[in-house]
Amino acid sequence: HEAFDAAMKDVLHATVYSRGNNPTVAYLEQKIAALEGGESARCFASGMAAISGTIFALVKAGDHVVCVDQAYGPARELLGDLEERYQVAVTYVDGTDTDAFAAAIRPNTKLFYLESPTSGLFELQDLRAVTALARSRGILTAIDNSWATPYFQRPLAMGCDLVLHSLTKYFSGHSDCLGGVVV
Ligand SMILES: *Cc1c(COP(=O)(O)O)cnc(C)c1O
Repeated sequence: HEAFDAAMKDVLHATVYSRGNNPTVAYLEQKIAALEGGESARCFASGMAAISGTIFALVKAGDHVVCVDQAYGPARELLGDLEERYQVAVTYVDGTDTDAFAAAIRPNTKLFYLESPTSGLFELQDLRAVTALARSRGILTAIDNSWATPYFQRPLAMGCDLVLHSLTKYFSGHSDCLGGVVV
């Protein structure tokens, strides 16, 4: 029980309970962080769990989010719920138009929620320009990189703060697993 007591004192890092830390998942997290060129990664049970966890960690009542209008539907729905029920304001912009991001910024803008290419229409954002704009105004950027995967695009190198994936999709590739990650 001494080992257990010690682990409970370091519950964020110790492998006490699998939802928190699991050695196999930790290995996957290290691999994905390396693929994206990121500091560290956190896996989730689904892509939407990763997206929800990230948004809930970053945004609080009274904040404003700028979201690409062609973002994955359920991610948009989540932001819509935040708007209706939790007093988070959301502005949807044409992601191909960097000036639209600049015009949407408010004093309380906390996050740019990006997805490039977008679901459905495969529209692109100029990630270097959009992230430079965000950084100059103290705004965080999170991008859903599920479509490209780090094989084709590494958004952290282009200035993004956080990269999200549905591991369910192209990343795993075989319709045989469900997962998500934030890097
Ligand atoms: C499917 C998908 C998600 C959500 O992932 P789940 O693992 O199904 O929860 C998020 N983003 C994109 C672009 C997707 O295609």
